Amino acid sequence: MDYHENILAAVGKTPLVRLGRISEGEGIEALLLAKAEFMNPGGSVKDRPAVKMIEDAEKRGLLRPGGTIVEPTSGNTGVGLAIAAAIKGYRCVFTMPDKVSPEKRDLLRALGAEVVVAPTAVPPDDPESYYSVSDRLAEEIPGGYKPDQYSNPANPLSHYETTGPEIWEQTAGRITHFVCGMGTCGTIVGVGRYLKERNPEVRVIGADPEGSIFSDPENVHPYLVEGVGEDFYPQTLDMSVVDDVVQVTDRESFLMTRRLMNEEGIFVGGSGGMAAVAAIRVAKDLPAEAVVVTLFPDSGRGYVTKVFNDEWLEREAGISREELKRPYRVFE
Ligand code: PMP
Repeated sequence: MDYHENILAAVGKTPLVRLGRISEGEGIEALLLAKAEFMNPGGSVKDRPAVKMIEDAEKRGLLRPGGTIVEPTSGNTGVGLAIAAAIKGYRCVFTMPDKVSPEKRDLLRALGAEVVVAPTAVPPDDPESYYSVSDRLAEEIPGGYKPDQYSNPANPLSHYETTGPEIWEQTAGRITHFVCGMGTCGTIVGVGRYLKERNPEVRVIGADPEGSIFSDPENVHPYLVEGVGEDFYPQTLDMSVVDDVVQVTDRESFLMTRRLMNEEGIFVGGSGGMAAVAAIRVAKDLPAEAVVVTLFPDSGRGYVTKVFNDEWLEREAGISREELKRPYRVFE
């Protein structure tokens, strides 16, 4: 028999997939690969830190039987936490900004969590922000514990212990470039740190939405891609691991998200499209021996009324139906 003891043991060991048609279309000679993190049980890369943060809190006595997990999350971390909480018997309360798609909110409620919605357009230290509201709730609720993926070392550690070693093994140590979106930065810091320890020559490159602080701190403004970019520097970010940051616009991210489905049959959210654009830019002038790995954080299922809806795309991102009919190329 070959089975997992429970669903949490099925987190990780995701496939690495070649982006062959896109490589051909863009004239890329390097090997371009994507880590399919949307294939985790909860549908995203965030299953890994969610499980690690809970197990770490249990070990340190911060989370006790019957406790409540309170976390500000745009959805994916919430799914991972809710799955772990269901097995382990915790209550979950999540706060999120109002820009998050209704499907994501409904999904978390379906998984048994309580969801508190807060305004997007206020600074993080405003008492109304979803960060501040989560702090207050974690204090007020008896047995409340806030994992805080933005400061919790267990977040990058989960990637250092699992995602990084998997990529190293799957590429037989031949990876030369890792290109990855930055949100809490748990993924890029954990994977990047592991890969650089194995081979200091590996380049670690962040992908960041236009409007986010990582690529342009002087021009922080709202953008449409979800789950990546920030308007503050998370404590989990260690810039010594990041060699470069590539800025990607909403338009580029969304056109690439649609193209990944159309050409590769890979159905991911906008942050996957964004990472792919950055990876293509990095891979473009590299020789055939180069091995560029990017990472697709979540599935397109959470965005069927957004990036996968032509009307929404035209209204919000100014991408016309005519434009969608033409094949999109990063390099024309
Ligand atoms: N993409 C999506 C859809 C996400 O939910 C997240 C997590 N915020 C990321 C990318 C970025 O991952 P990380 O937090 O590890 O930087």
